[in-house]
Amino acid sequence: MIAKPPQTPDHAATAADLRPTGLRPLPLGQLRPAGWLAHQLRAQADGMAGHLDEVWPDVAESAWIGGSAEGWERGPYWLDGVTPLAFLLDDARLRAKVDRWVAYILDHQADDGWLGPRPTSDREETYAAHDVWPRMVVLKALLQYHAATGDERVVKAALRFARTLGDLLDRWPLREWARSRWADLVWSLHQLYDLTGESWLLELADTARRQGYDWLAYADELPYTEKVPDATLRDYQRQADGLWMNDHMMATHGVNVAMGLKMPAVWWRQSGDPQLPVLLQRLLAQLDTHHGQASGMFSADEHLAGRHPSQGTETCAVVELLFSLEVALETWGVLEPLADRLERVAYNALPGSVTPDEWAHQYVQQANQVVCHVTEDRLYTNNGPDANIFGLEPHFGCCTANRHQGWPKFAARLWMATPDDGLLALSYAPCRIDTTVRGSRIRVDVSGSYPFADEVTIRLGVDEPTAFPLRLRIPDWAEDAELTVDGGAPARVDAGTVHELDRTWAGEQTLVLRLPAGVRVEHRQQDSVSVRRGPLVFARAVGESWQRIDGVDPHTSWEVHPAEPWNHALELDPAAPEAGLDLERREVGERPFSPEGAPIRLRARARRLPAWMLRHGAADAPPPSPVAEVELDGESEQVELLPYGSVRLRVSELPWAPRPSA
Ligand SMILES: [Zn+2]
Repeated sequence: MIAKPPQTPDHAATAADLRPTGLRPLPLGQLRPAGWLAHQLRAQADGMAGHLDEVWPDVAESAWIGGSAEGWERGPYWLDGVTPLAFLLDDARLRAKVDRWVAYILDHQADDGWLGPRPTSDREETYAAHDVWPRMVVLKALLQYHAATGDERVVKAALRFARTLGDLLDRWPLREWARSRWADLVWSLHQLYDLTGESWLLELADTARRQGYDWLAYADELPYTEKVPDATLRDYQRQADGLWMNDHMMATHGVNVAMGLKMPAVWWRQSGDPQLPVLLQRLLAQLDTHHGQASGMFSADEHLAGRHPSQGTETCAVVELLFSLEVALETWGVLEPLADRLERVAYNALPGSVTPDEWAHQYVQQANQVVCHVTEDRLYTNNGPDANIFGLEPHFGCCTANRHQGWPKFAARLWMATPDDGLLALSYAPCRIDTTVRGSRIRVDVSGSYPFADEVTIRLGVDEPTAFPLRLRIPDWAEDAELTVDGGAPARVDAGTVHELDRTWAGEQTLVLRLPAGVRVEHRQQDSVSVRRGPLVFARAVGESWQRIDGVDPHTSWEVHPAEPWNHALELDPAAPEAGLDLERREVGERPFSPEGAPIRLRARARRLPAWMLRHGAADAPPPSPVAEVELDGESEQVELLPYGSVRLRVSELPWAPRPSA
């Protein structure tokens, strides 16, 4: 860990100064994706992210750009994802779209500082007319635009809005979504403070905290330990005198939880409380215990829904948890459990709910997802019959607009700057960096196909000899990790640490980092197993039959039906899982997150488990393991386990039976 939190507790909010962050993203555009990651972002640009403003009225005709369609969160959501995408790819077409949106929003800022459309005058004295929530999203988008362009109009506009917000919050304290999601507002206010040093911003941030929901109430004992069904939500409403958006309802809402998890890191900058990193990890552990899924996510369909692997997880919750983890890592430096979870969610859950061409997505994904269809008989709490099909807008359009931030924000933080003018690698997806360190131009080229391959090559070139520390995160699963510098003897580097190379760099040097990953099994409900290797979660791949049900190309709606039986028990020796799993590698291509393109595969033996069937339109909970011989049917067959994100029909919590030879 670098940037240790201070040892002296300081619980009181201080408006005097803000603690510096342990890491700082490179200015947007200095890091560019390469290899498979570049193809992934290019698929976004060529797919829904890069065209949503042409095909979807809620963005195309958004009231945020003077149209007559939705003027709330959808336009800002899209802008928050497409802005970093445009600059990471240096894509002129996307850049023009972003410029147009930013210019319209800035040019139409009201005289009193309000940003964006105002609801009609007949609603003037309602909360909705003063709802800060969508403006929280637009601030995040605008600040990324500033990080890429240095456009000072952004800072001026954001300050003017923040000034009006001070008065507004006195009259209309945060409510509803804004009350749950206040940490995102404070994150933006802190960015503005870093840019301007205007101390009143910290007082405003403290007002938002006092008006906001206290997510730390979760940390000591999570009050929501079971699935929150409709009946419970109605109880909450009754307890709150009929108020639907009451605190219990909002605090069990999966997307709010994912966003609220950034609160400890955001508030640490202002309070300095050394307990906050511990509290965040405790919060995550409690969510794992009661609602955790194999992908590193928690269930949210759309409220916390327990550990059943067929409960859904909303796509917005995935991208919001990623951003919360990124903020935490940025704030505190590398805390390995958070970095490990960031990779697990980014390399599994993120691609897991989207078609490989990036045109269609699901509202909710499932860890055990054996059919994606429209069905009235469903397991979800309050998501509709179409929540797990693939399309433009299944169930509800928030994810349609919001999901695009996932890859670009993750990619932009693969490598970050450290306070001592160094560079730190958080994850090793291929990328190129062209930056300046201590006045010297530095180029870094990261090749290899991590996380699909175990070896990463880092070429570092400097124009003139320059001393600076280069730090490499060594994941805690990489027990036999080795580092070779310029063809020298490989040196052992310790798993779960940040390895530092503090030296004078000259010319071009090549570092080869080997991160060998063993197969591990994680025991889950009823002793079923999920299989992991490095940051990848593996799922039994089920043959997919795609059936067009609606929509027009290219944003068609699809059901996905199993083309083969999915109800198998793995033949496994849990004490030595690798013994029964054969690893196959293929060249990494443009679409590693597709069944055909999966560059790493595990072959396993399995037997049919006929009693395991569908229930409420989804795979029933896996029967208890180890499965007895009498429950099994037929001969042992070969099945393939593919990366979770490479398959849309999958079983990632698997029942198992003892291997015959074990
Ligand atoms: Zn959503």
